[in-house]
Amino acid sequence: MPSLKNIISKLCHSPRQDTHTPTRPAVSPALPVSSVTAIPAAKKAVKSKKKTKTKAKVAKMKISSRECNGDDGEIDDSHSRSPSPDPAIETWQNGMAMETDAVTVIENKDKLSVPIKNDVEQNSMVKLASKLNGAVVSLKKAPSKEKPNKDQLFVTALHTPNPFKTLATRKESSPSLPESLTSCLRSSLFPRVPPYLKFVSHDETVPLKIPTAIQKHLKWKLTTITPIVVKKTLTNSGFRLVKSECDTAECPQEETVDWIGIWGKHMKSIMFRAIKDGQKMNHFPGTFQIGRKDRLWRNLQKLASKYGVAEFGIMPKTYVLPHDLKILKHDWEKYAANNERWIIKPPASARGTGIKVVSRWTQIPKKKPVVVQRYVSKPYLINGSKFDLRLYVLVTSVHPLRIYLYKDGLARFASVKYNDELSSLNDRYMHLTNYSINRLSKNYTPNEDFAACEGHKWTLQTLFQYLKTEQNVDINALWESIKDLVIKTIIAGEASISSLTKANITSRYNCYELFGIDVLLDEDLKPWLLEVNISPSLHSASPLDIHVKGPLVSAVLNAAQFHVPRAEQAGLPYDSRLYTVYLSKEERDKHIIYTNMEDRDLYLRDILSTLTPDDVRHLLQAEDELTQSGALQRVFPTRHSHKYLPYLAGPRYYNRLFDAWETRYAEDREPGVELLRALCDMGYHLQTPGVPLKRAAAQQLDRCRMTWTRRRRPPRRGPPCPRSRRSGPPRSRSGPSLPQGPRAPAQTRCPARRLSRRPPRCSPAPSAAPAASPSPSPPSPSPSPSPSPSSPSSPPRTDLNMNECDEKEQC
Ligand code: ADP
Repeated sequence: MPSLKNIISKLCHSPRQDTHTPTRPAVSPALPVSSVTAIPAAKKAVKSKKKTKTKAKVAKMKISSRECNGDDGEIDDSHSRSPSPDPAIETWQNGMAMETDAVTVIENKDKLSVPIKNDVEQNSMVKLASKLNGAVVSLKKAPSKEKPNKDQLFVTALHTPNPFKTLATRKESSPSLPESLTSCLRSSLFPRVPPYLKFVSHDETVPLKIPTAIQKHLKWKLTTITPIVVKKTLTNSGFRLVKSECDTAECPQEETVDWIGIWGKHMKSIMFRAIKDGQKMNHFPGTFQIGRKDRLWRNLQKLASKYGVAEFGIMPKTYVLPHDLKILKHDWEKYAANNERWIIKPPASARGTGIKVVSRWTQIPKKKPVVVQRYVSKPYLINGSKFDLRLYVLVTSVHPLRIYLYKDGLARFASVKYNDELSSLNDRYMHLTNYSINRLSKNYTPNEDFAACEGHKWTLQTLFQYLKTEQNVDINALWESIKDLVIKTIIAGEASISSLTKANITSRYNCYELFGIDVLLDEDLKPWLLEVNISPSLHSASPLDIHVKGPLVSAVLNAAQFHVPRAEQAGLPYDSRLYTVYLSKEERDKHIIYTNMEDRDLYLRDILSTLTPDDVRHLLQAEDELTQSGALQRVFPTRHSHKYLPYLAGPRYYNRLFDAWETRYAEDREPGVELLRALCDMGYHLQTPGVPLKRAAAQQLDRCRMTWTRRRRPPRRGPPCPRSRRSGPPRSRSGPSLPQGPRAPAQTRCPARRLSRRPPRCSPAPSAAPAASPSPSPPSPSPSPSPSPSSPSSPPRTDLNMNECDEKEQC
């Protein structure tokens, strides 16, 4: 077996265009439409002979995929299909079942109709491909401009002994959704990918028609901070809002544990382990790395010292006190002659709380933890007033990084005209642009009309229109510099978010996050980053607010791509295999090879020529997501975003994969989509490795620990629980409750029942250690002051250390 080093070196030294794929001569991996895969007609004869064997293999594959799904039978259910009460669903479901029967196994490359060349030249690719067990695939170009015929698509899979010998093919693509489902579901672009839920507008007047088989699964867990506009969007889209931890006759707890979405506060990273497969939360672990002003600065500072202030000087110079007091003193003296102004802020606060503009050293707190920042004293003014911008940024994935920037936003004006006299520094209505502050000013004028340049709040679109027509500003250039700032800001937190996500999340389905980024334009229209809010206010009291935030919410939820969970009745289940984070050995090898490649041209040339099932899963998800972008503009990855790749903590495989994908298909996506369709048609994307035993055990242990931590609360007083003998699924299915949301009144809960329950079987931890001190790895969330999921005496807390942002601000 050749070593990885040999493979890389062969690959690197193989002639570029002459490198034949092992499957098809004259098809270069560098061509826009790549590679080859074949299921020749002759093969179908082989198929029927092997029917019995095939069925056995399919059964085996199903079993293995069930095993892959992890812990319980619950997820198995999600793949099973049972008759639906809805005839339309039934028809659709039958279609799916028929297709699933049409399964082919390609076992032996000798049987392929396309001869495999044995050139020495090809060796590197052959070895690489067989090493990776990927299909070297390409679309055979149709002679005309017509869509390629399915028969013209042919697939060759190169196999090495591995757990996934089967490649399934289907006679047809996925049937389109029946009429009755199209109002509430959107098909994927790809066969064998479950459809996504549609989210309609907050002000939709006609309720969605949703078959009961689906609607019963649409549960959203309410929290105390779920914004009204989110609630309206959800109820209009057919969701039921369930209270957390509710345990009353009207709202039994079993009802509340199977939620599929939550809009809550950020929480400690370890709590993300409690999120189940098929559930989505509006945060990633670790985003406080950009959500706190001190951490944001530190992370940007690291990048600036590495790549230069010209690239990363996007935030006014900041000093984190008391640590940076000496440096501040030094710089203070340096700038003293200019009468420099400084702004003091708490490191993790919002809404202008605790902020002061100062010019004297004595005003600087020497011991208190604050950030001191150079004041941008020449801001861009409109009608003599200072304003800042609120941008909305959606991150749907961290590795690979996918960032969207909402095309609209807010411009918030100070209510007193600006001057930079030292004597006016105390005037908060002049120097701060927060709505929470300025609405208290007697000068404050609301703006009810989203299209008007009036009052102290405008939409971003109106502002741009104004700048273009009235001030002759080059809006495109301004938007480009804003996009640059947004990408760099997210990159500043990428390393930490990525590693905390890796450590705490086992399904790529679980997280997405909407950020509110505040930016100030200086007199040269240079955008300066002020802060990042990890729970931006979606308060929408005025028509202008709702005009901006209403469409934002439905766009975000659609781009987050929710599936119908465990819809065994509907036959449209969420499929956990699509979001697995586990890789086969071959896939890991491919990651190593392409992560170690130094030359971009090399990975651009080859990384797409051997797509693994995991690659296909990532690419199809991103393609489906892109169809939802609309008002959300994808700013990373794009055809040109590779210039940011060196700024990431290290070369990252998926970012390179997407770089190559965008380079090849950004201009014309259809061939790329068609290629993925062909692979999905074979079920290639559903080939997943098992969960590594160690990891599975660790996950189980985590769940047990967290569940147990919750159960070990001191007993509470209350009347006997009327539902204590209720039958139904064991409560441990719920995992730990997430720490948001209103709590049920004490008397509705039944502590005795929880305490009397035996500790979970799966872990020695509950009996071996007390709640606060489980074994060190992985740490259990301590009951206090961390977000104890169900602390009896206090409302559940989230990580209060991070910037709580403006989630309550009516911005
Ligand atoms: P908060 O999170 O409390 O809103 P910000 O950092 O956004 O804190 O600051 C509040 C306001 O103060 C901003 O909206 C802006 O108007 C003003 N501001 C903040 N930093 C600066 C700065 N460096 N230069 C000029 N104005 C600033």
